Amino acid sequence: MIKIKRFDRKKEPNSVTMEYPITEGLNLLALFYKLKSTLDPSLSFTGVCRSGVCGSCSVMVNGKPTLACSYTPKSGDLIEPLDYHPVKRDLIVDKTKALHTLNQAQTWIHKTNNIPRDTQNLHRIERQSNCILCSSCFASCPVMAVNSDFLGPFALTRALRYTTDSLELQPLDTLTAIQQNGVWDCTLCGECTAVCPQGIDPKMDIMNMRSKSVQNGFDDPTLANMSFGFDFTQGF
Ligand code: SF4
Ligand code: SF4
Repeated sequence: MIKIKRFDRKKEPNSVTMEYPITEGLNLLALFYKLKSTLDPSLSFTGVCRSGVCGSCSVMVNGKPTLACSYTPKSGDLIEPLDYHPVKRDLIVDKTKALHTLNQAQTWIHKTNNIPRDTQNLHRIERQSNCILCSSCFASCPVMAVNSDFLGPFALTRALRYTTDSLELQPLDTLTAIQQNGVWDCTLCGECTAVCPQGIDPKMDIMNMRSKSVQNGFDDPTLANMSFGFDFTQGF
């Protein structure tokens, strides 16, 4: 049996955890479909491609964001909706705010001369381009618990992708957009990297974006509050 946290805002209580049987050989998303068609038509979830490409079926499995179509359920598993996303119903969440971080971070090409990318540049942005926007990294990030305005891992990964793209002639626009609630607010815990189904490393990308920021004249705001063991106001 697995446990699924159900949510219905029209019911009281609106959240309840229910148990369902596992079927040998079915991944979690396939199991959702089977449970819906045979046992509980009201079970609500999201899943489109069923092959780890669309990124729509992410759920929390025992507290860890996971693509349901890529996971084999085990007895005792607790399935919940993604953290830090408003729940619409059962396992369906609203990703509007998470996806809006791409706008806030200005992750697009602002100005280009349309000279084709060379192979080396294509290779440098390949991994970040493979993001499927599953929001697993967003749901794993502990900064979200204390700062809901944090841009989050996938927006910052995509910011690296666009500021590295040789087509972009104005990378400063994106760099400027990620200074506040962005690169400097990450704790470098690595949770996002650990859960990414695409093998992307948002933590490393954020560290790279910090380097790019400094190289382009931005400061780490946390340095202003450090004493370095010396009171500079007292002079030398
Ligand atoms: S490394 Fe940074 S962005 Fe990634 S989960 Fe940790 S705090 Fe969030
Ligand atoms: S970086 Fe990875 S975990 Fe984050 S949204 Fe993209 S594919 Fe999903």
